[in-house]
Amino acid sequence: MAIPRHIVDEVRARTDIAELIGRTVTLRRAGRSYSGLCPFHNEKSPSFSVVPDKGIFHCFGCGEGGDAFAYLMKSRGVSFYEAVKELGDAAGVVVEEKELSREERQRLERRADLYDVTEETAQFFTNTLLTAPEGAPGRDYLAKRGITVETAQKYRLGFAPESWDRLASHLQRKRIPMQMAKAARVVGQREGSDRVYDLFRNRLMFPILDDRGRVIAFGGRILPGPPDAPKADGPKYMNSPESEIYDKSKILYGLSWARLGVQRKNRVLVVEGYFDAVSLWQAGIEEVVATCGTALTAAHLSVARKLTRRVVALFDTDEAGLKAATNAMNLFLDAEMEALRLDLRPAKDPDEFIQAHGAAAFEERLSRAESLVELVISRTIAKEGNTVEGRSRAVESVLPMLRRLSRSMRTQVEAFSAQQLGMTVAELLDRIGRVDDRPQPAQSSAPPPRWVPTRELAHILWLLLHYPAQVAPVLAEADPDVLTDRRSVLQAMVELARGTPLAEVLESGRDADLARALRAIAARQAEYQEEQAQSAARSLLARLELSRVESEILTINAKIAACETSGDKSSYVSLAKEISALYVRQRQLKAVVSSRTTRASATNSP
Ligand SMILES: [Zn+2]
Repeated sequence: MAIPRHIVDEVRARTDIAELIGRTVTLRRAGRSYSGLCPFHNEKSPSFSVVPDKGIFHCFGCGEGGDAFAYLMKSRGVSFYEAVKELGDAAGVVVEEKELSREERQRLERRADLYDVTEETAQFFTNTLLTAPEGAPGRDYLAKRGITVETAQKYRLGFAPESWDRLASHLQRKRIPMQMAKAARVVGQREGSDRVYDLFRNRLMFPILDDRGRVIAFGGRILPGPPDAPKADGPKYMNSPESEIYDKSKILYGLSWARLGVQRKNRVLVVEGYFDAVSLWQAGIEEVVATCGTALTAAHLSVARKLTRRVVALFDTDEAGLKAATNAMNLFLDAEMEALRLDLRPAKDPDEFIQAHGAAAFEERLSRAESLVELVISRTIAKEGNTVEGRSRAVESVLPMLRRLSRSMRTQVEAFSAQQLGMTVAELLDRIGRVDDRPQPAQSSAPPPRWVPTRELAHILWLLLHYPAQVAPVLAEADPDVLTDRRSVLQAMVELARGTPLAEVLESGRDADLARALRAIAARQAEYQEEQAQSAARSLLARLELSRVESEILTINAKIAACETSGDKSSYVSLAKEISALYVRQRQLKAVVSSRTTRASATNSP
């Protein structure tokens, strides 16, 4: 969907990128920019920088970078259109949609109304939990389970009071039609009755969010009443039924909070319970999500796959557990994802484990998680017994799994299976019916070297970014060949000299190396004062030309030496003229270079 360029530029200009990124990354001000720990790779000291006046972020560690839209796309997996739309909504810029049919428009409006209902409901539950007198049971329960108020607020936990109509009457006061509340699946209505009732009662509430952070459904855990009260009614966990906005097979609970952690650790930990997810997150295991009361589906995996190819999950090792693990393994193989099995025994769930042993012990177990494919294979082989017939049955049952392996996993799993079956890899490959396509020793096909600007050019670009009005006239007089032989760089310089904002220049360019270099240069601290800008630019240009002149002098000196040997007099004369002109130019340039004031900072060069 094409959005007009001026709309994109306006949304970008109105978005405070430091505020946007600051919502998910702790940023510290450092001069004109901010720095923090990169959300895209694992690091202990900050190499991630945000430059609000240039509208960009850049990581010196992993090279990620771009504008506010790029940040949303990379950190949340949204499309460019969704990013512009979301930031446009926030900045009050109307982002034009394509022409919608009447039905499409009505459907969108109805969905928007449903989101309003679920959002209002979530706020009602949260306020009840945090402040209302009838929220006390919820607060007591959280305290007992060791969940802090901060965590509860982060996950927007709530409490549904013990009442048949507290939520329904709240929604009515907010003028929400009961038809919409029913469609959003937060209230129900008995057949033949005109009274609606609250679906969730006396439950701790976990709002379920979609990838834009909108509440779309709820999970509720029933709370134990006082010992002498009648038994609480309903199942221990209850989920919203599916609705027009909620499809449980596609939603991973907690993903909106886990997304950055998943990218950073390059793995996602899938647990079953809401409490497990919240409790692990609170302990610092950020890459955790839960399935909403269903087994893992292919749709779950395609959501997770956008962020990482490695999934860690818990599977029992009894007969039923092995069956579930085998089913799940086939999903993983089809999705070409690597699955690891986490063993937390004797703890019965992750929450119990983390409360008892803490995060370090949990990480230690995570590091020992075993390959799910290998587990299933070794279990299958063990089940068939160690007789000759058993072995042959084992080979037959393992072959279909091996045939499904994606290329990246073959080598390791095949070697493992052959060893378990007591065969050579060649024998096993023969049985699989596959030719040996294991990677041969690496051929030398090194990637082309990455372009980086010379030190002088980097400084010139820095000056141009910060003082275009002063520096543009100096560059206009310069010989472009002295600056660079890369066309995209010259084009970008022309744009910057006209005062085009950096983020727009980066967007229109296709040169990834240049974009990376420009972001890195923009993220540098002050190099020169404004009043130094022109003389600095002249001096840098002189340095660049000087190095060219000096290499020409070397070339011509070599030619002159050759003429002296061969006795070619006419060439000698013209070369001598050329070189004396070069010596004159060399002296002029040296004077420019040495006359100029010293740089503001000698250590912080771009
Ligand atoms: Zn990084």
